[in-house]
Amino acid sequence: MKKVVKFGGSSLASAAQFKKVGDIIRKDPSRRYVVPSAPGKRFSDDTKVTDMLYGCYAAAVKEKKFAEQLEQIKERYQEIIDGLGLDFSLDDDFDTIRINFSKKIGRDYAASRGEYLNGKVMAAYLGFEFVDAAEVVRFNDDGSFNPEVTNELLSAKLNAMENAVIPGFYGAKEDGTVVTFSRGGSDVSGSLVALAVNADLYENWTDVSGFLIADPRIVKKPKSIETITYKELRELSYMGASVLHEDAIFPVRKAGIPINIRNTNAPQDKGTLIVEGTCRQSKYTITGIAGTDGFVAITIEKAMMNSEIGFCRKVLQIFEENEISIEHMPSGIDTMSIFVHKDAFEEKEQKILAQIHKAVNPDHIELESDLALIAVVGRGMRSTRGTAGRIFSALAHAHINVKMIDQGSSELNIIVGVRHDDFKNAIRALYEIFVVTQI
Ligand code: ASP
Repeated sequence: MKKVVKFGGSSLASAAQFKKVGDIIRKDPSRRYVVPSAPGKRFSDDTKVTDMLYGCYAAAVKEKKFAEQLEQIKERYQEIIDGLGLDFSLDDDFDTIRINFSKKIGRDYAASRGEYLNGKVMAAYLGFEFVDAAEVVRFNDDGSFNPEVTNELLSAKLNAMENAVIPGFYGAKEDGTVVTFSRGGSDVSGSLVALAVNADLYENWTDVSGFLIADPRIVKKPKSIETITYKELRELSYMGASVLHEDAIFPVRKAGIPINIRNTNAPQDKGTLIVEGTCRQSKYTITGIAGTDGFVAITIEKAMMNSEIGFCRKVLQIFEENEISIEHMPSGIDTMSIFVHKDAFEEKEQKILAQIHKAVNPDHIELESDLALIAVVGRGMRSTRGTAGRIFSALAHAHINVKMIDQGSSELNIIVGVRHDDFKNAIRALYEIFVVTQI
């Protein structure tokens, strides 16, 4: 058994958190490759080291004094080193960083130092070897990520090592220029390491016990999801549920490596297992409920629309030309509705309406804003009768008017559109019927 373990910023924010991480790793010798984030927040209004680095580098670029800011960052690490009782110094590294900041070496380099330094501390603490991600995670000259070369470099390096610490979030071009992934990118690094060593499991340790069935800001103490498929996760993340960086899924999914989301502060919890496929039925008919707010529906009406060839194409082309992504498109015989994000649509609204009039000469166009979409997702739906019926009766009992319905052909999800004001109550009603009462 070979595991890759990635720890998020809150799991590594202080010496006390490091100790929990050390216990987790030492408890299971198959946890051989460790991917750390930079130290995160220790308390709610604390600042993440990555953000401190961005701030410090911005000062350096403006040729303002940055020594004090860099000193504060050093103190964050020193506190951890002292708290762990390590005989280890980052003085030389901070000297190099100071020189490189003065040379304005790059914003990505600056941000990457959070993970780099934390990786060094982690390696010293665990007695594992440190592998600089700049040597094994490769970006192309144009800044895009190069998965093939990365996999070759990472496999060659790590397969010859029993244990290693590989900092997350960054890599480098062939000439050594450091490049980072987007924020939260250590999840991606962990996934790349898991692929390269052909791990049996990629454990992603964070501060929640996996995915919850519904948003805890809306539903009180929702239950967590034990097993979820990659497809279900995609549906839920699209609707706003986020624990994992989206790009972290692809490398491991392709190789059939499951991801286990675990909680550093509650290691006894099993967390959520993300798998390609499973015969395990979820406890409830549904796996999760997620939703997002802020949609506009543009409903176009025209008599005999169904027999007018090219009608939809002409309308869709207008959205394409205006670079607006269409989220959903329910249609009737003489109507078609287009759901888009309000933020993207608002400023181009009048232009688009004029273009639609010109292109297809509709009888009527109606706009409805402040809509929310809610996805009820579950692999169990395919084999269960009456899921849609239960959704609509739950919403009807809660006096919620359904504005739109869309069932994906995979029968993995049912999406309902409701008014913004009904959004939270709708999610609560759905949670109640599928999870609490299970009727
Ligand atoms: N430290 C980086 C961030 O704050 C990357 C990560 O934590 O995954 O976004």
